[in-house]
Amino acid sequence: MRERSGGGTRSIPPEKDFGGRGRSCKGGSAVATGGGGVYIAPLAMTDAPTLPILLVPDQRLRAKAKPVAAGDADRVRALAPRMLAAMYAAPGIGLAAPQVGEMLRLVVIDLQKEEKPDPVVLVNPEIIAASRDVATREEGCLSLPGQYADVTRPAQVRVRYHDLSGARREIEGEGLLSACLQHEIDHLDGVLFVDYLSALKRNMLLRRLAKDLKSKERA
Ligand SMILES: [Zn+2]
Repeated sequence: MRERSGGGTRSIPPEKDFGGRGRSCKGGSAVATGGGGVYIAPLAMTDAPTLPILLVPDQRLRAKAKPVAAGDADRVRALAPRMLAAMYAAPGIGLAAPQVGEMLRLVVIDLQKEEKPDPVVLVNPEIIAASRDVATREEGCLSLPGQYADVTRPAQVRVRYHDLSGARREIEGEGLLSACLQHEIDHLDGVLFVDYLSALKRNMLLRRLAKDLKSKERA
């Protein structure tokens, strides 16, 4: 997921600016089940080669990803730092494995609260609870560069996942974190944020994207 950069009166540098409107990031309490992120923290310093991010209308973005199995451990451990590198380079705040052509249920996010790297790798994430109240915020996506729209989703979610060590963990979020978790988990089922828009709005946005990509090709 990506938020629109620029605008506002924040002092953070543009490449770290996921501002958009109302950067209210209240949520984000990781419910620790041991480990305290020890397996995750070194990933922030990754110099792993980045991966190309697939763009709409690549059909792989519409496919359902497979659960990560025990036999995928090495593949996932190699993939996660490269996904984080690609996400930071974009820049974005979330990336799902299908966006780099890997059809696994694997997501990386980093909201960079207080401008510090705070990567979370979620293996087989599942929404186990969602609030009845909803929230609307502007979303963008690294697979639809330059396109943004308001999306309404449950305001709070609780997500269960495994970390890279295989430990079962839960994360609970509201605000930006909640939207980001839902946006990325959607990618694992081939769902894009434009699917929440009216057909009219969606088609307008997709046409604009196609035009932008074509003019970039020519440039
Ligand atoms: Zn996305």
